[in-house]
Amino acid sequence: MDSSKLANFKYKSFNHIETGIMNNNLKALFEPTSVALIGASSKEFSIGNVIIKNLLHYQFKGPIYPINQKEDEIRGLKAYKTIFDVPGPIDLVHIVIPPPFVPQEVENCGIKGVKAIIINTAGFKEMGAEGQALEDDFLARAKKYNIRIFGPNCQGIINSDPAFQAYCNFTFTYFKPGAISIVAQSGGVGAVITQALHDMHIGIRLYASNGNASDISITEIIKYYGEDEQTKVIVLYLESLSNTKEFMEVATKVTAKKPILAISAGRTEKGAAASKSHTGGLAGGITMELIFQKVGILSFSNLEEICHAAMAFSSQPIPKGKNVGMITNTGGPAIIATDELVSCGMTIPPLSDQAKADLKLTMLDAASINNPLDVVATAGATHFKSAIEVMMNEPQIDSIYLTFVTPPFVDCVSVAKEIAAISKLQRKPIVCNYITDKENWKETSKILNEGGIPCFDYPETAAKALSALVNYHDIQSIEQGSIKVFVDIDFENAKTVFDKAKAQNKEVLTAADVYQILEAYRIPIAKWSIANTIEEAVLEAEKIGFPLVIKADSEKIIHKSDVGGVAINIKNVDEVRSVVTNMQQKLQQPDLKFFIQEFLTESRELIIGVKEEEGLGHLIMFGMGGVMVEVYKDVVFKIAPLTDIDAQAMLDNIKSAALLGDFRGKKGIDKGKVIEILQRISALVHDFPQIKELDLNPIFANEKRVCAVDARIIM
Ligand code: ADP
Ligand code: MG
Repeated sequence: MDSSKLANFKYKSFNHIETGIMNNNLKALFEPTSVALIGASSKEFSIGNVIIKNLLHYQFKGPIYPINQKEDEIRGLKAYKTIFDVPGPIDLVHIVIPPPFVPQEVENCGIKGVKAIIINTAGFKEMGAEGQALEDDFLARAKKYNIRIFGPNCQGIINSDPAFQAYCNFTFTYFKPGAISIVAQSGGVGAVITQALHDMHIGIRLYASNGNASDISITEIIKYYGEDEQTKVIVLYLESLSNTKEFMEVATKVTAKKPILAISAGRTEKGAAASKSHTGGLAGGITMELIFQKVGILSFSNLEEICHAAMAFSSQPIPKGKNVGMITNTGGPAIIATDELVSCGMTIPPLSDQAKADLKLTMLDAASINNPLDVVATAGATHFKSAIEVMMNEPQIDSIYLTFVTPPFVDCVSVAKEIAAISKLQRKPIVCNYITDKENWKETSKILNEGGIPCFDYPETAAKALSALVNYHDIQSIEQGSIKVFVDIDFENAKTVFDKAKAQNKEVLTAADVYQILEAYRIPIAKWSIANTIEEAVLEAEKIGFPLVIKADSEKIIHKSDVGGVAINIKNVDEVRSVVTNMQQKLQQPDLKFFIQEFLTESRELIIGVKEEEGLGHLIMFGMGGVMVEVYKDVVFKIAPLTDIDAQAMLDNIKSAALLGDFRGKKGIDKGKVIEILQRISALVHDFPQIKELDLNPIFANEKRVCAVDARIIM
């Protein structure tokens, strides 16, 4: 396999999914026409009772069959001794009995012809080997009968569609139908999200929390939501991924159709400390973020923001750009909103002359005809109507931000009706910072809510929700770029080095090995040579020429300058002798060699690195380098392989991006050369996936030359 194969890799065109289960749809789970519950109970405060209660309360459209060996009736429903006593067919079964009895019940369900089972019971693989054996047992039986398993150790699903009203879950939020579908790896987080949306009077369509995910995965649920016409936006809470590649394939396809908003947790910097490279140490905890970025998922860092954004996505169209038209009937909150919008990257463009002229005719005299447009507090329905319509007709305006305080001297119900009527046309998205006493302005609030206007108490919150809509548009319009194929790479030469290192069981490659690999991949490095003794060092130094640098090379020394293993600006043979003698005495390593290198000046120090990520491939890092890299932490990561656009974005996205350009009389660096090194490194790790970590730190870069002076590869 050589890097020319990279040409065949095309982002956003994954064409096959290998697991067979993906072809099996989840209809019986999410759209059950009958539900049975094995372990139904007449005992209040038991799961076997609560699920029956929920199905009844939510008015499930099909028959409900409680299964209980002793009772004849549960919550007024006829109970059956076994699943075989149930007269009709059953789509979906809940199992809530203790683990040892679960496999046999799954078998019985198979014989009965059940299509899907939610195993709410806990105590399987999370409890160790015995639980794992039970889980394997019921999975094998389910497979035999082609039954899909949801859980175990899970809440269940909810489908609010009036045709089903399936509350197959033991939670408590009886939400109304809506366009948001939720999948949560943690039921508790799922409850936070559903309850928050419900409290804001926002409907939800589908809900799922699948616990151990022994069979039906989060990925499959996302795929199902993606295909569900009524789902406008997906909210995802994720802690870990079992099949990263499959998740990325599915999510990429789904985000092209509808937004996925996600939040991940449990990604603290574990493993970072054990790392042998700068890159490994700096990569801790960011992988999920990068995965979201790569597949076009909008990432959120807190639950409140994700709920607010979901609210906006569920009723509003996606804007075509960053330009916001602002309308307000009170000054201050709109000023705060402007700051927030601008800091989120939005722009507030001026109105056209025509729009201004039109508004002059319709607005009150005191109105300030600009963007933001202050209609003033006494403005009524006709003023708001005209203001919103003019903004809707302005081609340079992509979305509308409304500040609406409810003055007691204005007919606010009529204002709300106008806003709702215009919003229904779905021309451009509207968000609203709605300032009122919800107890006393019930009617106004109801009209706005039913009209689908996302209303927020705070200007910052409203502004953030709007910028989430814009972000989705931006992500969808980003060009992916192409992966460069290098024909000048000497793959065989590099392979020889890797094979030899492997045969010798080496984990950290020697400097000579690393430099040979870099040369094979045409990655520019400073002129160098290796010496074993003082005399060799003198000889090699004279070949390279003064001034030069001498570095200690030993498998045991990771950061050379930390132990006095780097001597720079060495001007003559005497200095070579004394530096080498000194290092020999101080470092005492049996494999100690001396790395002689030309001395470079007048450059910015950069870092390029790689870290392998299980199940994903490699992460590539770029940033400001040198010995201070861990102090500044000014680095960015992307998932390999890198396209030209990825590489360019990495240079643009570090905090000190300005330092790469012309700066204080110094010319900017040759960015094209840096981008090429990033692309060549991407090719290298594609060809040699055994690379665990790689650091080029520093890379010296100025306007003429870009080259690495220190490199490390860990296998
Ligand atoms: P380590 O990272 O193992 O401590 P480096 O080879 O990166 O060792 O050297 C440490 C620092 O020494 C670099 O960040 C750079 O500032 C300086 N340095 C190293 N090599 C050169 C060189 N060839 N020319 C000029 N400065 C160098
Ligand atoms: Mg270094």
